[in-house]
This record gives sequence, structure tokens and C-alpha cells, in this order.
Amino acid sequence: MKILKHKFVENIPDIIEDNVLYVSMEYETVIHKCACGCKNEVVTPLSPSDWSLTFNGETISLEPSIGSWSLECKSHYWITNNKVRWSHKYSIDEIEKVREVDLDDKLKYYDKSNTPSQHNSAGELEKQHSAQKKFNLLDWLKQAFKVK
Ligand SMILES: [Zn+2]
Repeated sequence: MKILKHKFVENIPDIIEDNVLYVSMEYETVIHKCACGCKNEVVTPLSPSDWSLTFNGETISLEPSIGSWSLECKSHYWITNNKVRWSHKYSIDEIEKVREVDLDDKLKYYDKSNTPSQHNSAGELEKQHSAQKKFNLLDWLKQAFKVK
């Protein structure tokens, strides 16, 4: 069974080490590298509509499970007391269902954290596109308020 370490940090570090859960209370976010070893960073924002963090003084648990349906690996696991417990992989249907509910929250995070570097993967393009859409909406709102 995979066991993670946790680190309480103020800022999310540039280099995310394998098997480490970075917990930032400042940014209400936990970040770690996908437990499957695919090297993708998995961000779990802490909020009533996202994830809850439990720290018992020694280990960390996150609820609900972590479903990386936007990643190629489609990993799905729980982190309980710093241990990774694997679940079944999401089916396409399940992914779509969760996505609908979750996409908005996810985008909010990506808008904040997405650094405009290279955007060459499909996922990155999707994010960029969504951010763009959001940006336009904001513009539109600003204009609407100016006009009135
Ligand atoms: Zn993975």
C-alpha cells in the first residue's frame, strides 16, 4: 500500500515531490502528485463543496475520494490516514456526471493557478479555452454595467 507523507506549507512549492501531500491552509488547497505515478499534479481545493481535510495530529485524510478524470490515468482513490486506497476507475458516464457538477469549481481554481506557459496537451487547451470563455463573460458583464 502506498503511504504518503504530508507537509504543511504556506505557499505551494514549485517542485511537487512524489508521495508528498502539500497542505496549504493559506490557499485552502492540498496538492500532490497522482498516486499512480503518472507525475501529474492533483489539486484538491478545501471547501464545503470540494474536499475536506482531516488531520489527526499524525496523518491526513481527504474526503471525498480523488477522481482524476481529467488525467489520462483516470485514477480514483481515497487518501485515508496518509494511505492511498484505490477504487475502481470511473466509467465515461460517471466521469461526465461528476464533471458537470465539478467543472465550475475546478475552473475557478485553474483560472487562478494556471500559469501561461506551454499549453500543448489537450487538457491544457481545454482549460485555456474555458478560462477564455470565463474572461469574455467577465468583459461582457463589465460592459453591461458600464452601459447601464
Ligand atoms: Zn495518474
